[in-house]
Amino acid sequence: MGKQLVLVGGGHAHMVTLANLHQFIARGHRVTVIGPSENHYYSGMGPGMLGQTYTPDDIRFATRHVVEKQGGTFVLDKAVGVDPAGKTILLSSGSPVAYDVVSFNCGSYVPIPEIIGEGTEFYTVKPIEKLLDAQKRILSLVSQKKATIGIIGGGPSAIEIAGNIWGLTENQGQNKPAIQIFTRGRLMGRFPESIRTKVARSLSGRGIEVRENSHITRIEARRIALKSGETHTVDLLFLALGVKPSPIFSKSGLPTGPDGGLLVNQFLQSTQYPEMFGGGDCIYFQPRPLDKVGVYAVRENPVLFHNLMAALENTALEPFAPGGDYLLIFNLGGGQGLLRKNRLQFGGRPAFFIKDYIDRRFMKKFQAIE
Ligand SMILES: Cc1cc2nc3c(=O)[nH]c(=O)nc-3n(C[C@H](O)[C@H](O)[C@H](O)COP(=O)(O)OP(=O)(O)OC[C@H]3O[C@@H](n4cnc5c(N)ncnc54)[C@H](O)[C@@H]3O)c2cc1C
Repeated sequence: MGKQLVLVGGGHAHMVTLANLHQFIARGHRVTVIGPSENHYYSGMGPGMLGQTYTPDDIRFATRHVVEKQGGTFVLDKAVGVDPAGKTILLSSGSPVAYDVVSFNCGSYVPIPEIIGEGTEFYTVKPIEKLLDAQKRILSLVSQKKATIGIIGGGPSAIEIAGNIWGLTENQGQNKPAIQIFTRGRLMGRFPESIRTKVARSLSGRGIEVRENSHITRIEARRIALKSGETHTVDLLFLALGVKPSPIFSKSGLPTGPDGGLLVNQFLQSTQYPEMFGGGDCIYFQPRPLDKVGVYAVRENPVLFHNLMAALENTALEPFAPGGDYLLIFNLGGGQGLLRKNRLQFGGRPAFFIKDYIDRRFMKKFQAIE
């Protein structure tokens, strides 16, 4: 008799499984996919959507359509907990969904720091679809006045957001907004000096201010107060702070890594519950911690697909090998990029061209199944 497979979240690590859902159905299994949105948005192109390089349709997968087309069930809801003993996923609507095998690819979120009080309009860089609301809000603001837009964070998403806001508004003449990045330490602190220098040059060339060593103590009524006593007023704020794995696992008492991600072994399988798997930002890979980048989620795809089928059919699991250094290309907005792979580094239009080519090819491959 067939079994029940449940996918929680249709993120980047579930793409191959979603494309091959019909194979589970053909073998007599039932598949249910739970997601808070009918579409999944590709994060690598999110900042480009903010900057109007891409439309929302360019960067989304029609998850519900793909699931239903292949005979699966799509549940428009959010998973809020897991009962591993009863093999049940709990939804925010209150209904339970039973599973024989479950896989989590429900991503990560930007925690909102306690220093944020009332009266400041802000956006977090995730979920990616919200960047479209942010884009509309920025365009509305700059149509009325010369605004100041603040970005809190000092990593890749902060610089990509800043660069794409610049790209979005570069033709606004007098009303071109002031863009300021506030970072606790050094900008792009975990990257080599050569990358930091290229990023700093790109930002300063566009008039984007970077305030390093900004220790923010309070944000209230649009005012950012620093420990140094300085204050800065912004019209709109972006939180590009580090992400945390979905809180479902820690809330449910499942074994997790130090960051709260589902603790998985080399088979992307829970270290305690053999019928539980996961991929992407929401897992903690026990053999070695992985950066929270889409690259790993994408690499996990074939192994996750194989292992979910293997778990349903009682065949052998495959181990996941994360691989070596990965290609990183930042979208700096306005058609400019910055590429890094091992010692190779270059910027400008060629870097963006390569990113655009890779991202569009990835999208086309999975949008084709729609
Ligand atoms: C602005 C920005 C730009 C980035 N650019 C790049 C890049 O160029 N290259 C790169 O490698 N990485 C990039 N990253 C990192 C990348 O976003 C993540 O590593 C990647 O999104 C992880 O994929 P995921 O599928 O695990 O999670 P997500 O992309 O977050 O997908 C999770 C999915 O699960 C769904 N979901 C969420 N909660 C629940 C729930 N409770 N129940 C059910 N479903 C749920 C969501 O709707 C979503 O569809 C970027 C990140 C940001 C913020």
